Amino acid sequence: MDTNQYVAIFGGAAAGSEAAFQLSEKGINVVLFEQNALPYGKIENGLPKWHHKLRDRQEALIDERLNHSHIQFVPAVRLGKDVDIRDVSENWGFSVVLLATGAWKDRPLPVKGIEKFIGREFYYQNALSEWFNNNHDPNFKKYDYHIPDGSIVIGGGLASIDVAKITMIEPVRNALNAKGIPMDALTLEKKGVMPVLEELGLSLEKLGLKRSTLYTRHPIEEMPLTPLGENPTAEELEKAGRVRRNLAEKAMARFGFTILGSRNAVETIVEDGKLTGLVFAKDAETEGGEKTFERVLAPRIISAIGSIPEPIPGLPYAGETYRVKNYETGELEELKNVFALGNAVTGRGNIRHSQSHSRTATGNISMNFMALDDSGYEKLFNAAAESGKQTIQALFGAIDGGARCTLTEIDAINAKVDELQKKAGYEGDYQKWVDAHRPLRLEEMLEHK
Ligand SMILES: Cc1cc2nc3c(=O)[nH]c(=O)nc-3n(C[C@H](O)[C@H](O)[C@H](O)COP(=O)(O)OP(=O)(O)OC[C@H]3O[C@@H](n4cnc5c(N)ncnc54)[C@H](O)[C@@H]3O)c2cc1C
Repeated sequence: MDTNQYVAIFGGAAAGSEAAFQLSEKGINVVLFEQNALPYGKIENGLPKWHHKLRDRQEALIDERLNHSHIQFVPAVRLGKDVDIRDVSENWGFSVVLLATGAWKDRPLPVKGIEKFIGREFYYQNALSEWFNNNHDPNFKKYDYHIPDGSIVIGGGLASIDVAKITMIEPVRNALNAKGIPMDALTLEKKGVMPVLEELGLSLEKLGLKRSTLYTRHPIEEMPLTPLGENPTAEELEKAGRVRRNLAEKAMARFGFTILGSRNAVETIVEDGKLTGLVFAKDAETEGGEKTFERVLAPRIISAIGSIPEPIPGLPYAGETYRVKNYETGELEELKNVFALGNAVTGRGNIRHSQSHSRTATGNISMNFMALDDSGYEKLFNAAAESGKQTIQALFGAIDGGARCTLTEIDAINAKVDELQKKAGYEGDYQKWVDAHRPLRLEEMLEHK
């Protein structure tokens, strides 16, 4: 074991845990800082809870990687708030610092004035997903959210279809429960909202419910719901269009929401200080050559147009993404020995870019062109882990040939780590910690009913 090499990693999910594992396998000591109690990132708080088997498999993989004697886990430490990047990279004595912090800021919906309604009549997807994944737990108080009947979603990619499903599952579940019919989100997702209602001899109309609507700027045939190569022929485009319409129609028939394409949200509708709807501009082509506007009233508006890296104070940015010196390694400008992994460099939720940044050529794996099921998400998580691995391979020379920590520096790092772990209440047993902090699982509640 080379005790003189110490690497700091921020973010412990797919990419960060794999990077930590690769380093620890080479005998390098790693301190892995994670802002949350659990290191699972989008797997825990983004992936909808009905994918629980995939979630459990992916979380077990992270546990396997992090439960390693060369890795010190430090939960509840947020880079940019609890520790400062310049301080960590310049003064703590680490050989290198890796950022695997993912994409947690919702891409702002470009509609003037909408931000002041966040958490009221307007939700963003990241908070909504966390709420939905935990709303069966009566002790979950972080978000007091509610999805009323007739909500609208703005999006178009894989994750926005899941949000549209949530906007049907929640009101139907509540309406059935209010009628004394026990129903849960997992059953409604698995069987489909409309088939469940039919089985019960009910319908949306009989429950007094309307449909939610997903508004997307693409025509339905261009919604990114199925893979398409780099330079598609007219025939491939036509075929993809048919497949996409088919997928969209199946999702609508099964879950009851409506998708309206070629519409861009342009303005808020506000009444008595409340957001009551949005004005959409319809594409000229849809309206026979003229752009038209449509006023849409809705009790809740949810934006699901993707996430970008959260700005962390002290890091160099170029728009939404970090300014990098070297795309091969993700080395950042201005800072010494600080490297970013995966999405944070490209910031597009586009794993294809992340992977080419780390020198892989695995073809078209983009957030926006994934299957609408477990396998689509599984590919994304695996690709993120792969990007962690590739980055370490690209960086290993720099780390191995780089500065070694002195014994005094090692003692100082250990003392700081110790202090932060104590502050979080972490006693050093990784598995015990994650087992104790895993949230209440809906599938387990249902099993024990
Ligand atoms: C529903 C869903 C939606 C998605 N949407 C997008 C998208 O819009 N854009 C996109 O780029 N990718 C998106 N993805 C893809 C996803 O980010 C990748 O598939 C994969 O999860 C990325 O893994 P990661 O380890 O890089 O990041 P993440 O899973 O995001 O993990 C990052 C980890 O870093 C931690 N962290 C973040 N900030 C800090 C900090 N300041 N200090 C310490 N720790 C921190 C987080 O808590 C988290 O544990 C989505 C995935 C899902 C399931």
